This record gives sequence, structure tokens and C-alpha cells, in this order.
Amino acid sequence: MSEPDEAAISTALDRIRAIVGAEHVLDQPAELSEYRDPFQPTVWDDYTPAAVVRPESVEQLQEIVRVAGELGVPLWTHSQGRNNGYGGAGTRTKGAITISLRRMNRILEIDSELCYALVEPGVSWIQLYEAIRDGGHPLMLSVPDIGWGSVVGNSLEYGITYLPHGQDFMAPCGMEVVLANGELLRTGMGAQPGNRSWNLYRRSFGPSLDQLFMQSNFGIVTKMGIWLQPQPETILFPRIVAQRERDLVELIDTLRVLMLDGTISGVPTLLSTLGVATTLTKRSDWYDGDGPIPDAVIDRIGAELGVGRWIFRTALWGDDALVDHRFDKLRRAFGAIPGVSVAGDKCSPDEAPSLASAADRVVAGVPSLDLAQMAGWYGGEHGGHMSFSPVVPLQGAPMYELNTVLRRLVEQAGLDYMNIVMATGARSAVNVVGNSFDFDDEQATRNVYESIRTLVTEAGRLGYGEYRAHLSFMDLAADQYSWGDHAYRRFVERIKDAVDPAGILSPGKQGIWPAANRPAA
Ligand code: ADP
Repeated sequence: MSEPDEAAISTALDRIRAIVGAEHVLDQPAELSEYRDPFQPTVWDDYTPAAVVRPESVEQLQEIVRVAGELGVPLWTHSQGRNNGYGGAGTRTKGAITISLRRMNRILEIDSELCYALVEPGVSWIQLYEAIRDGGHPLMLSVPDIGWGSVVGNSLEYGITYLPHGQDFMAPCGMEVVLANGELLRTGMGAQPGNRSWNLYRRSFGPSLDQLFMQSNFGIVTKMGIWLQPQPETILFPRIVAQRERDLVELIDTLRVLMLDGTISGVPTLLSTLGVATTLTKRSDWYDGDGPIPDAVIDRIGAELGVGRWIFRTALWGDDALVDHRFDKLRRAFGAIPGVSVAGDKCSPDEAPSLASAADRVVAGVPSLDLAQMAGWYGGEHGGHMSFSPVVPLQGAPMYELNTVLRRLVEQAGLDYMNIVMATGARSAVNVVGNSFDFDDEQATRNVYESIRTLVTEAGRLGYGEYRAHLSFMDLAADQYSWGDHAYRRFVERIKDAVDPAGILSPGKQGIWPAANRPAA
């Protein structure tokens, strides 16, 4: 789309300064450098905003949205803006005004009896975790790999977390939303004044709207309920290691059975050798040749790190006896696969924060920044990554076939293939293909972008669509959902036109463009 009108943006910023205070409108290049895609070469500026504005209240936000509506200027919202790998704090439309909700970071409720919290969008996972701990609440929070993002922003973007409520993205419940005309809406039970079950009951009287505000551009979420779980007596970390690439088939089929019957809950993750290696080491620790890393080197990495070709990351949470029973079932099921080893370590929730492995801490509900190093495979400090993440049925044979195709395509581009299967439910998984690059090397970065383009279209042809996409691939990923002559897109566009006729909220998010910017059909 064309860049926003500079005069309108400048008028809008003057008016916004009067709302939030001049110190909360950032428009100098040095101030904006933090609010771009941190993984793009520094000379690229496709997703740089004109300014970042930082409201501190819902009322200020409503006023900003009204100004934008009057002047027809595009906004882009982030909560913490740490959506790294998907564009970070960058805006889909260059020159839009970014609304950063980092200052709206109050934890409004933590309820130990009903096991939920109510938070504003700036609250990070680490902040909520610490408030639960410091308040002495015997509760656990399902957290993502890296804890600096916000509970709201990450959840709205379908970010994956690993404890039982992470399964099927079940943690969020009940939202407050600023609409494009500046009005405030509460979803679900919150639609009734004084309703006592807003963050407790998932449905509504009538259509349920929470989902409508996730991965969309129909409103700005200003409060969200998030479910918590009681701390269990025991956490057990199963160590399941397989030695052959082909074991993926039996590992996944076994996992499905154990998830469907409730033995394994949460979001178990199956990591390939390089999927683990990238979280612990750099490529140059192992290999400095060009082209894809050879199988013999992958085998050596697997042996030295003790992770084989595949290793599971998950936990069993519950009473000691129950956890033992489940582990026994799991050990027998996975142990029946030739060459697969199964061991397990236990800890209590009190011991979890001092566990040596960041990966273990995450599945024990303890967030940190330790896993952020995964971006450095090729570029170290200047390393970036983007995921290609199709949703796949939780069935071994088709998953293996798909990965064989994807690996061939990635290796044709001269890159290392690394994947992680995240079983977001008992019936399907997100097959995350990590694509790392040195963002100081523009050519190498371009090559990765090209490779991802190929992956999106080739996987699309095979019946696989992405669960989430980087700003650069949102249109292409959305194009794959074309059933019924793009009936889905046409429907969400009709909603967009109705709820945001001026097209000011996050134009282009998930490929949903306002009428004026829509590519000709
Ligand atoms: P994180 O909190 O994990 O850093 P972001 O704040 O970067 O995540 O948000 C990820 C994406 O989710 C944003 O790019 C935006 O599209 C959407 N988003 C974030 N916060 C909100 C919000 N409060 N209302 C509506 N959409 C949001």
C-alpha cells in the first residue's frame, strides 16, 4: 500500500502530544530504532513507523483512536512489541503510527480461588510470574519460551505456551477492547454490567467475540483474563531421546495416543537435533562449511549434546502418585520404540526456579530470557530468525513426509534444516521450521526470505497453512486460505469494513486490508 499522508500524520501527532504528553510521542530516528524488526538488516526500513505513542490509560487510547479516525491515519498496536521472528515491534505499513501499550502494565487481579488473573496489555510474562510468586499465590502460569513479551500481545498473536492451559490456546478468557470509533467493548460475560463471571466463562449470550480480536485488526485489547492452575505437588520432566530421523513417525503416533487419553497434557514439543543445538550453541561451534550441515555432523551434535535426532520437551504435573502412574505409561509406550531411551527427573514447584535448564524451567512455568539465544545460529549477536510454521495433523507418516519435502527445499537454498513439532493439541501440531540468518549479511537474509516464500507456497499446495506469519509473509500466508474463492477473506473483509470503515487499525494485519488499500481482486 502507499505510505500514509505525511501532513495528516503530523497533525495527528500534534493532537496526540496534547493527549499523552510530548515525552510520550517518539519520532526521532534514534528513538525509533528500538521499534523496528530487530532481525532485519539495518539498512532496511520497510516496517518503520512514523512515530511511537505511549498512552498510559484506556481513556488516552480512546482519544488517540478517535483522532486517527478523524484524520484517517493508520495505527499499529503492540503490547510489549517483542514479537521477534515475526517482525518484532515493526509496523506492517511503513510510516504508520505505532501505539505501544508498555505503560499500561497493571495487574488488576490475581484470584487464587478461581485461578485466574486480569491484566493490562503491557504486563509481561515475567511481571505476572513475579507478582504471583511475590504475592504468595500457590498458582502456576503457562509461559512461552521467552518471558519479556506480554501476556496479552503474545496470546492475541496465538503465541504458544506449554502448561495444560496452553493446549488449544485455552488460557485467555474475557477481554476489554477499544474499537475503531473509540468506543469500549467488553466481551463474553463482561457485556453485562457487574457480571461476576467475565474472566471465568468462555462463552457469551450470543456469538462469542474473544476470538475475533485475536490475530485480527478489529480492535485494541486493553484488558484480558488469563487462566492459571494450582501448583502441583510434583513436576516430572520425561527425557525421551530417539536416534533416527525416521523415528519421528512412531514418536508422533505414540504421542497422539497419550495425548488423546489424557496421559500427556500441555503442549509437548519434539525438538530435532538442530532445533535444540540452536538454543544452546552456535553453528560455528560445530561446522564452518557452506551449504547445509551434513548428516554426519548432525549425528555428532546429537551425541555430544545427548539429544539424539529427537528429544521431547514436556512435563507431567500433578500429585506424586498420579505423575508416577503417567510416567510409567509413557515409559512403556515410548520405550517400545526401538532405540528410544526414556528417563525422567522430578522436582517440586519450589525447586523449579533454580533448575539449570531454561527449557525445563519454562515447562515448570518459570519464564526467563535465556532461550533468546536461539536467534544466533548463523549470526551470533547479529543473528536473526524467522519461523515457517504450518499446522499439521498429529500423525507420524504425513508429518515425516512433509518434513522430507520441507528439508529438501530448505537445503536447496543452502540452509540448515531445523524443526520443532509443537503439539498444540491432541489432534494437530505446529511444525515450526526455524530459519536463521546473519542480518548483517543482506544477501544471506534475502536468501532466507526467498526460501520462506517457497515454503509457504509449496506447503500450501500440499494442504498445509501457517498458524502465524512474519509481516513480510502475512499476505502470502493468507492467500493460501482460498477455499470457496477466498470466502474466508471476503467475510473478514466485510467485518473489517463494518467495524473500522476508515481502515485505521493495523492495516494488512494477517492480510486483512481496509477497502481503500485492498489489492485489486
Ligand atoms: P509481545 O507482547 O509478545 O511482545 P506484541 O506486543 O509484539 O507481542 O504483539 C504481537 C502482535 O499482536 C502485534 O504485532 C499486534 O498485531 C498484536 N497485538 C498486540 N497487542 C495488541 C493489543 N493490545 N490489541 C490488539 N492487537 C494487539
